Amino acid sequence: MGAAEPKRLGVMGGTFDPIHAGHLVTAEEALWQFRLDEVLFVPTGRPWMKEGRDVAAPEHRYLMTVIATASNPRFSVSRIEVEREGPTYTVETLQELRRTAEEHIELFFITGADAMLEIFQWKDPEEVLSEAHFIAATRPGYDIARFEKEAPTSHPNVSVMTIPALAISSTDIRRRVREGEPIRYLVPEGVQAYIEKAGLYRGGR
Ligand code: ATP
Ligand code: MG
Repeated sequence: MGAAEPKRLGVMGGTFDPIHAGHLVTAEEALWQFRLDEVLFVPTGRPWMKEGRDVAAPEHRYLMTVIATASNPRFSVSRIEVEREGPTYTVETLQELRRTAEEHIELFFITGADAMLEIFQWKDPEEVLSEAHFIAATRPGYDIARFEKEAPTSHPNVSVMTIPALAISSTDIRRRVREGEPIRYLVPEGVQAYIEKAGLYRGGR
């Protein structure tokens, strides 16, 4: 028997505080545009880029991500970063996923263009790019010209993906909850219910 085609695994990392329609549309679009077999959502543990503001407990963010993705047979959620002590780095997560995979996999890291630039500011781009194909989603309000200039978009392992514009951010959702504005349809119904039940984002920042 010849070698089977590697499984095309999308990895969508994020704080998911909370997960919203922008994340879900981006993952679904990557699934479609890059013929992925599956997308694995990886909520961060203690996010090292977001120090200076309170982030909801990893368990809350993990559960909201599970609720949001439960109805999609091609979406699943990993506890890999939630359970890791200390700061999390994309490269380490990609390496661990490859090491623990039961089959031959091809990795596609799905990220907003903004988040992609952050990754390359912190780590050697060549090392990061050797781990996965990077799919950078253009996010509304994001200066794509700057991205083209600063990110290695000409690298064979980088693709820019245009998604239907959704100017949704977790920051805005948290603000809405705090100020009593609606979040219905910006997040899945179950996530909205979870936020209310757990009393998330009501006070402080
Ligand atoms: P925050 O406002 O707290 O930074 P966020 O909305 O940016 O939250 P993250 O969890 O930081 O959400 O993002 C996870 C990934 O999803 C990042 O790669 C980010 O660029 C991408 N992303 C977030 N919102 C959108 C959106 N509306 N469209 C496309 N990509 C998005
Ligand atoms: Mg963000």
